[in-house]
Amino acid sequence: MQKVIVMMGAPGAGKGTQARRLAERLGYPQISTGDILREMAAAETPLGREIRARQAAGRLVSDDVLAEVILTRTSRPDCASGYILDGFPRTLNQARMLERLSGQQGKDVILLRVVVSEDSLMKRLTGRRTCSQCGEIYNVYLRPPQHEGFCDLDGAPLEQRSDDNAESVTTRLRAYEESTAPLIDFYRTSGRLFEINGELPVDEVFRSVMNVVTGKRK
Ligand SMILES: [Zn+2]
Repeated sequence: MQKVIVMMGAPGAGKGTQARRLAERLGYPQISTGDILREMAAAETPLGREIRARQAAGRLVSDDVLAEVILTRTSRPDCASGYILDGFPRTLNQARMLERLSGQQGKDVILLRVVVSEDSLMKRLTGRRTCSQCGEIYNVYLRPPQHEGFCDLDGAPLEQRSDDNAESVTTRLRAYEESTAPLIDFYRTSGRLFEINGELPVDEVFRSVMNVVTGKRK
């Protein structure tokens, strides 16, 4: 059965990396709603104009517009055997839309959730430092530079993103958890939720992801 794979994971859980690798391995397109919205907003079409108008007014794109965006994108031939969704659905209403859409397309939806403890997420996010020169990423807990505060490659000072402090990370993680809980329940209740231990090294996480996708894990 052809699949629609919905990838979920808190900020810092490594969901993006796994989605990319999965897309490569399966030959499925990885569809990020954020990317598509940017792409569509740039186009001179009625939909593009509507998205621009909403964004200019500081409003979220409505579910109807999002549904059309997803429908348009997933109707392309590269989605015929399946696709990976990143950033959609975000609400129960959107999840129900996806049920209808995938039903029409004759595809099964599964939710792959990369789970990482709050403690680890805090370390991953608050410990992150980026080289101001070359963009190399370090982590003071997990991958410290040889000389504290400076890049190993070029000696340039490392910077911390202003919203990577403990307080705003905690707020982001809480908000994420609250907003995704109903979705997780939705897929759990229908037996289509697969939770992956995201604490393990990237390759091992990917092995678990593949086991789920190929049906080795029920
Ligand atoms: Zn550097």
